Amino acid sequence: MTDQAPPAGETNVASGEALVRMAGVNKHFGDLHVLRDIDLEVAKGEVVVVLGPSGSGKSTLCRTINRLETYESGTITIDGQPLPEEGAELAKLRADVGMVFQSFNLFAHKTILQNVTLGPIKARKIGKAEAEQRAMDLLKRVGVQEQAEKYPAQLSGGQQQRVAIARSLAMRPKVMLFDEPTSALDPEMINEVLDVMAGLAKDGMTMIVVTHEMGFARRAADRVVFMADGQILEQQAPEEFFANPRSDRAKDFLSKIL
Ligand code: ADP
Ligand code: MG
Repeated sequence: MTDQAPPAGETNVASGEALVRMAGVNKHFGDLHVLRDIDLEVAKGEVVVVLGPSGSGKSTLCRTINRLETYESGTITIDGQPLPEEGAELAKLRADVGMVFQSFNLFAHKTILQNVTLGPIKARKIGKAEAEQRAMDLLKRVGVQEQAEKYPAQLSGGQQQRVAIARSLAMRPKVMLFDEPTSALDPEMINEVLDVMAGLAKDGMTMIVVTHEMGFARRAADRVVFMADGQILEQQAPEEFFANPRSDRAKDFLSKIL
């Protein structure tokens, strides 16, 4: 796939410099073939938005990249390195591959600042003072520096999700995975989170984003990946995808949500 020219209109995927590379990945849950021959390459600095109906395997795809799920065949590499099986290498992978979920899962009994410093201190062996300095910079970047000494329950959902993003960034990940990060938020808080993500994208973060926010896909994605039934059916630039979906599944999907 890498040494072939892409079909007309298709966004050129990474060749030499893929930061995330999945090749021929298959996974089952019992009889359910949840990932089917997944080939996906994400270049450094690229923003890929994954779209598709519920149950199509989008979350499983993300979780497989982070090795929260195993897979039966194929290969996945991050920055050229195969996914480790366990131990210290796996912990490092989890730090390199940041993940933000629908439910923000902050530590309830730790302050916002502690939530962001914990990982770097424990996993990256950063000193406390430096970790706090870095955390404050990140909290400022996501616009919640005033909340540093508060506890998660004292923040709005949008603020908590922005803290969750800062917490992931504190590990200095190579790539960030977002799995429907705004789906649990009240509508008025969605944009404040999407704006932070768009800022990250603009600053060159490599991102894989599962979302139903089509506005975000249009404005921030370099490429849209459309999944159905565990397969990637289309990959193209967002303007192409929205104007000209090729598969019937994508046409059907777009007709329901737009
Ligand atoms: P999406 O995120 O696109 O909605 P998922 O990756 O969550 O899709 O799920 C894909 C399919 O795999 C669904 O049919 C779902 O029910 C099933 N599935 C997901 N996780 C598990 C699991 N841990 N065990 C069994 N089936 C699962
Ligand atoms: Mg999902």
